[in-house]
Amino acid sequence: MKKQGIEKDLKRSPRSFREAMAYGPYLWDWANECGLKGLGYAPTSMGGHHFITLAALRVLPEVAAWLRGEARLLIWTYCGFPDMNWAQYGTFGTEIAGARMPDTRREWEISRYCRYNQLRKEGHFIGHHPKQAVEGLIGRYEDACRAADEGRARDAVRFLGAAIHYLEDSGSPPHAAEVSGPMHMLSESLRDPSQIEITHYQPAISFDPRAAVRRLEALGIEQQGPIAALLVEGSAADILPHQLVCANECARAVADLLNEFFLAYGERFDFLPQTAPTGRELLHNGDFSEPGDMPECPEGWVMYWEDRTDTGVVAERVVSAEGVEVVIADARDRVACQTTWPRVVRGLAGQVFVLTGEVLCMGGEAGIEAVCTEDATGLVAEFRAPAEGKGTWERLELVVTMPEGGEIVRPGVYARDFAGTARFRRLSLVARSE
Ligand SMILES: [Zn+2]
Repeated sequence: MKKQGIEKDLKRSPRSFREAMAYGPYLWDWANECGLKGLGYAPTSMGGHHFITLAALRVLPEVAAWLRGEARLLIWTYCGFPDMNWAQYGTFGTEIAGARMPDTRREWEISRYCRYNQLRKEGHFIGHHPKQAVEGLIGRYEDACRAADEGRARDAVRFLGAAIHYLEDSGSPPHAAEVSGPMHMLSESLRDPSQIEITHYQPAISFDPRAAVRRLEALGIEQQGPIAALLVEGSAADILPHQLVCANECARAVADLLNEFFLAYGERFDFLPQTAPTGRELLHNGDFSEPGDMPECPEGWVMYWEDRTDTGVVAERVVSAEGVEVVIADARDRVACQTTWPRVVRGLAGQVFVLTGEVLCMGGEAGIEAVCTEDATGLVAEFRAPAEGKGTWERLELVVTMPEGGEIVRPGVYARDFAGTARFRRLSLVARSE
């Protein structure tokens, strides 16, 4: 039977987490092995988070139906946010030899949703142990409600994802018992997350974050004892029931939180496809003038490297006497500068968009592109307009009709099979009026 709704992304269940970093589309190989496909999915090293959120949404079909694609993004991306808020994303980080980490932090503007930016030294880091995590849970849930009150529905779900992460961490046995070192990962790594399930779940009357964290913390401390003892005596296979007690209690707490949010906002807005407004610029910072938290990356944009092992490639924002541009040099496989996911443009199937930009290049393929996805970032179609490569500035135009099933246009500039330097500037995207 073909899996439907929130279940459809997962082809196989993993047997462990954080085995190795992958050279595939996702940073961790367990996610590639699970068959996940969303372009914007960003599973974390300790995948228990995602399976706990999945178990919670499974018992809340009304909430999942309301959230549409945001439910799948909450499962596979947002509830991992606080674990991916590190400046080494996008660099040849220390954790893997010879491959760059995808820039997940900028891709989703995670520092904004976690209210902590390591590079800008803005906000403050919140620890992932219950005593500190409770602050993250309460703070990010307040942010979610503020965004929802202001009608920023998708922002609200992303803040909610960060809040959920802290709640889930509170019930992880090694987090609750504050166990560090190699025992931490061994205690936490679930051997069979497909067994997390809360079929007979009954929603709480109301969600009390402090009481929930206290309950999860006590349970986690209680279960860490036998887990550590079993690991020491070499019976790792027997820790699963102890882990599941905690994971299921986490899933109930997450379901309570989601239910509380749904009761407050379920009638006030929805996540249905929307028509893009016509007659105005749809891109944020399309001229790249505004620098991001590093001047080499424009605000609201992120670099993408198809081959993360390619050490020779350059992709950066450059300010010169001629103005501001993005430069890509020596790209083997496709390298792109794309809008972050929170800045993508939404539209209806059949709607016509016009992307324009200026490109200067010679030799190889470079141009402008638009990637269309469904509402949970699953690829629907890609469109590209390469430059002729005359060595002078060329103005390119790409006309895109949103394909059936598409709801998102993600514009960008790209180069591939390209030796030398391609320069890009003045991007613009508008929706054509009928
Ligand atoms: Zn965490």
